[in-house]
Amino acid sequence: MICSIYKELIRGVNGKQMIVSEKISIEIVWRLLENISDPEIPVLSILDLGIVRNIQTNENGIEVFITPTYSGCPAMDVMSMNIRMELLQNGYKSIKITQQLSPAWTTDWMTEKGKEKLKSYGIAPPQTRFKSPQSDRIDKMLFRDETEVECPQCLSKNTRLLSQFGSTACKALYQCNDCKEPFDYFKCH
Ligand SMILES: [Zn+2]
Repeated sequence: MICSIYKELIRGVNGKQMIVSEKISIEIVWRLLENISDPEIPVLSILDLGIVRNIQTNENGIEVFITPTYSGCPAMDVMSMNIRMELLQNGYKSIKITQQLSPAWTTDWMTEKGKEKLKSYGIAPPQTRFKSPQSDRIDKMLFRDETEVECPQCLSKNTRLLSQFGSTACKALYQCNDCKEPFDYFKCH
């Protein structure tokens, strides 16, 4: 959707500054957000993580809606600041970042590409769940998910939980019984 508001780009031409007006394209804003990474896991962009819910433009500028991965996640402030910086550097002026808390983020929103990137980074990605009623999902989270975590190094499923908390609260620490490597597992929630 292309809106009727404009952003002003200031470009230096032969030492003179020139103001060029350009329509805001939502598609371009989405593409710019691809450049912003999760400060805790730099290989993941915020789009891989699935925290950007919506982008809107109105007469006041751009509004970006993001959902925190968990409430009080310290990385959210850094990500909000980086979204603002990226858009400012690309000539956008009025930027509002709104945290949308409901519905809560779940690891199901992480893209398949994001899960692949996590794996090659050495972190076991959250297990893919299928859409199911809420109670069924909770059962799976409690009794199934944490038992079959694949080692990102040798792909063995013979792994064990060392600690519910890995390098950050979002991750658990596992060890592979085959190759003996410890690794982080991005917990489902
Ligand atoms: Zn292994």
